[in-house]
Amino acid sequence: IIEMGIPQRSVITTCAYCGVGCSFKAELNGDELVRMVPYKHGKANRGHSCVKGRFAYGYATHRDRILKPMIRDRIDAPWQEVSWDEALRFAADKMRGLQETYGRRSIGVITSSRCTNEETYLVQKLARGVFMNNNTDTCARVCHSPTGYGLGQTFGTSAGTQDFDSVEHTDVVIVIGANPTDGHPVFASRLKKRLRAGAKLIVIDPRRIDLVKSAHVRAAHHLALRPGTNVAVVSALAHVIVTEGLMDEGFIRDRCDWDEFLDYAAFISDPRHSPEATEMLTGVPAADLRATARLFANGGNGAIYYGLGVTEHSQGSTTVIGIANLAMLTGNVGRPGVGVNPLRGQNNVQGACDMGSFPHELPGYRHVKGAEVRGIFEAAWGVTIDPEPGLRIPNMLDAAVDGTFKGLYCQGEDILQSDPDTRHVAAGLAAMECVIVHDLFLNETANYAHVFLPGSTFLEKDGTFTNAERRINRVRRVMAPRNGHADWEVTQLLARAMGADWNYTHPSQIMAEIAATTPSFAGVDYAVLEEKGSVQWPCNAEHPEGTPLMHVDGFMRGKGRFIVTEYVATEERTGPRFPLLLTTGRILSQYNVGAQTRRTANVAWHQEDVLEIHPHDAEVRGVKDGDFVRLASRAGQTALRAQITDRVAPGVVYTTFHHPDTQANVITTDFSDWATNCPEYKVTAVQVSLSNGP
Ligand code: SF4
Repeated sequence: IIEMGIPQRSVITTCAYCGVGCSFKAELNGDELVRMVPYKHGKANRGHSCVKGRFAYGYATHRDRILKPMIRDRIDAPWQEVSWDEALRFAADKMRGLQETYGRRSIGVITSSRCTNEETYLVQKLARGVFMNNNTDTCARVCHSPTGYGLGQTFGTSAGTQDFDSVEHTDVVIVIGANPTDGHPVFASRLKKRLRAGAKLIVIDPRRIDLVKSAHVRAAHHLALRPGTNVAVVSALAHVIVTEGLMDEGFIRDRCDWDEFLDYAAFISDPRHSPEATEMLTGVPAADLRATARLFANGGNGAIYYGLGVTEHSQGSTTVIGIANLAMLTGNVGRPGVGVNPLRGQNNVQGACDMGSFPHELPGYRHVKGAEVRGIFEAAWGVTIDPEPGLRIPNMLDAAVDGTFKGLYCQGEDILQSDPDTRHVAAGLAAMECVIVHDLFLNETANYAHVFLPGSTFLEKDGTFTNAERRINRVRRVMAPRNGHADWEVTQLLARAMGADWNYTHPSQIMAEIAATTPSFAGVDYAVLEEKGSVQWPCNAEHPEGTPLMHVDGFMRGKGRFIVTEYVATEERTGPRFPLLLTTGRILSQYNVGAQTRRTANVAWHQEDVLEIHPHDAEVRGVKDGDFVRLASRAGQTALRAQITDRVAPGVVYTTFHHPDTQANVITTDFSDWATNCPEYKVTAVQVSLSNGP
């Protein structure tokens, strides 16, 4: 059979890259994974996939994997390989010692949007039930935390309103701050199919992304706004809709708080929000803004899809609120073809947020200050939960530099490479007395670690991921963990080493605990997932089949809330020294900092980061296509090759952040979203000059 190339067996599982959540058949000969075949019954992908899910799985068996635990007393000492028992004892003693010396709240955890729901649930349980504090945060902090805040405030819950199928009923689509072709390729294909069938497209992005003009797809409008002016653009659209009487008054009266709408309408009608008043600020012609608003309001079913170009700003939460306002103004919530849809970058961003990874929220987005909610988990866990919200990632790093935060357990996240202002992250890590990195590879953060616990890949464990449409998909073990333990087992072993009495023998038991404590998951268990393939939360007695569309008869919070969205300019300013604005994004073949995609055998994944620069800006600097250039900001500098293109406007440059050599986050500032501290990755004032090399 092997000689004929026919696999001996296959396992259905879920892609661990982006938030589309494609299902795959992992085909094996013996213990060797020979092929990932898109699964035709996968509800998110229906037999389709992109190159990453299909081919970029070689990292699971890459020689760089660390398979043995390691410890060291000082970060400048060599690593020492030890047994799991010794490593966990060392880690537990260090963390307990720090709490005895510096207090209960001196240590914390960072969970990962790459890990399963069950794993992230256990890590926040470790913080709350074993460390006895709420110092738990997730890498969603640096991507979609403004979605949590904005949609929570307006609609009542932090989640996209639609399923992917909904796009087939859409008449007019706004894509703002997202590049689905590269970031969410399988969803992009479905969107393009709908556009080819006649739906209208509006792109709001500083860069001319592929969707603006690709095969048989043309955007009706491309609003190439100046980076950092999302709020002003969204407000200008709302201004036109309100002042020209294009809103859906029946929807607003029935479904939204009318008094709050009147306050909002008075605010947004002010002439300072008009397209004409904001044209200079945003760089978008007033006529385009007016035409776009009219198209969205009058074009039938209107849907909004957005990404990190919305959230990773100092006003990320304000823009999310503005997008929700637009949807409510036009009555575009609660039926197929409409809605507000955050495109989640990582495979389990939605799940990490759902599972209570945030320092102020227990699973199911319930505030930790609520005694009744704490009581549910206290009864289930047999502990007393700290009522004080804990520290966010940037606060942990600040507190470390100040000397009050001393120990960190970081699962599946390379904060040194992923988080903004690398020098500050390094200073925070260096100031800690115990950093436990739990990962596949010796990543950049591990340079500051005292304990390294080998992680497992998605191919080596059971569990669930929740995709961008709230779909809970099964992850199934394809091969035995090469490091000896799935990640949930490692967290459990660490908890036990610190005295906890945890006895899970399978992730299904963890999901049973989640269902028992979290109403929106009450109907989720592994038997249901086997039977249905997947379900979308809320899934409970009220919605036994799950919930493809949210807010159908009413918003989760009751009445939808209009909230005013005052534009406040970012503190990051251009000037003579730093006259250009840098914004960042992804390419199709790479994934985030490239830890997985760069470790595949296929050379297609070895593309370098380049700096896109407009021909005019290149010419005045004497830069030719392919030249090495120095890219400098107030925070730091790096060097990379220039690519001259009019995809970016004059005054704007663009790069990706996939390679550690480029270190794009050395450049980015430490400004962040006012509500959530999500870093402002998308706006950095920079200078570009010729360089001799990398
Ligand atoms: Fe994986 Fe996303 Fe590609 Fe699907 S679209 S195969 S989930 S990376």
